[in-house]
Amino acid sequence: MSANSFSIARLPRIEFGSGSLQKLPAIAAAYGRHLLLVTGLRSFAESEAGVRLFADLRAQGLSWEQVKVSGEPSPDFVDASVAALQGARIDCVVGIGGGSALDAAKAIAGLLRPGNSVIDHLEGVGPELPYQGPATPFIAVPTTAGTGSEATKNAVLSVRGGFKKSFRDDKLVAEWAIVDPDLLSSCPPALIAADGMDAFTQLLESFVSLRANPVTDALARAGIMASREGLSALHREQSAAARAQVAYASLNSGICLAQAGLGAVHGLASPLGAFFPIPHGVVCGTLVASATASNVAALEARDADSPALPKYAEIGRRFAMQKGLNGPDARRFLVEALRDWEKELDLPRLSAYAIAAADFPRIVAASRAGSMKTNPIVLTDAELTAILSSRL
Ligand code: NAD
Repeated sequence: MSANSFSIARLPRIEFGSGSLQKLPAIAAAYGRHLLLVTGLRSFAESEAGVRLFADLRAQGLSWEQVKVSGEPSPDFVDASVAALQGARIDCVVGIGGGSALDAAKAIAGLLRPGNSVIDHLEGVGPELPYQGPATPFIAVPTTAGTGSEATKNAVLSVRGGFKKSFRDDKLVAEWAIVDPDLLSSCPPALIAADGMDAFTQLLESFVSLRANPVTDALARAGIMASREGLSALHREQSAAARAQVAYASLNSGICLAQAGLGAVHGLASPLGAFFPIPHGVVCGTLVASATASNVAALEARDADSPALPKYAEIGRRFAMQKGLNGPDARRFLVEALRDWEKELDLPRLSAYAIAAADFPRIVAASRAGSMKTNPIVLTDAELTAILSSRL
């Protein structure tokens, strides 16, 4: 391990484990009596866990306003929610749901007190004014695994047909992440597959990122192996053990991405998600094998000393459970294992979302900001196009 200098930015306090949702009322009550609950449209509120939580919150003497999020949140949705809540004296924002609900909650918590438009801070969109805060205390409770949003400092907001960009600041990091794997028990297999591959991609990309460090490497290794062990199992059949593994992988993926950045898949995911109605996790799951193959080939050809090459090989050896596998063979094994996963999890191709080859130039042209900058090698436009083509 090289221990050159590195920084670890703020993280939430974390409660992880089956049943940890029961700790939410007491944790929230420490911030005051009046909450804002940001949830999805129906799934959580109507679930057994949701009904029990509302009763527990009442028993704790808490009252709340509620905002419901349908689909991925837009800047207008955040601004309208903030405007509607002016004067509501919210002590704490609790986001309960998938990445969409958590990101909406994170952005609303950031702007409730300042009251200005989120466009002022959105990367690459508006004037990109520095965010000064103060943020309202925010508690994140993920019900998918996942985006890792419970551990990240950004909220992803999108305008369909326009852009998909982040509102990002250390002050937006949740005070608490309450990660209760039981909440995954209602996730259908397709959601498990797409979200599980989002988390896996975040782990693999942050592991080989140009900004990886020894702490994120340790978390990424553990998360990658938890994904490997838990994701296929949970896709086949619900079990407490598999739920815990994918929830743990997702939490680690959020910590790693916030600290180390991502890579080519997430670079492409930004325009793909902005231009087409394709779920973020599907983009990750459908592209990660091809993007890994492309990174490995480009590194072997143009940057044979890159630290990413032994890292890809290490994961290949762990997947193959063969410590003696040489570097190229281990990397080949990794790519093949990812291709097998793609089939097993039944991840849709890009054309299922009306994406065509004619769209590739504008997707590639819009993919260079953000995550692409920490990819371990600069991929050419032709290489990025080939990644997309292979999954058309
Ligand atoms: P999502 O939040 O959009 O939810 C997808 C669907 O699943 C919704 O209909 C939701 O109601 C339902 N759902 C949620 N939990 C459920 C459960 N337990 N059981 C049954 N149904 C459930 O999907 P997502 O993949 O969790 O989040 C995607 C969003 O997160 C995208 O906007 C993506 O860009 C963003 N994201 C954010 C970060 C970050 O760091 N902030 C990282 C990755 C992705």
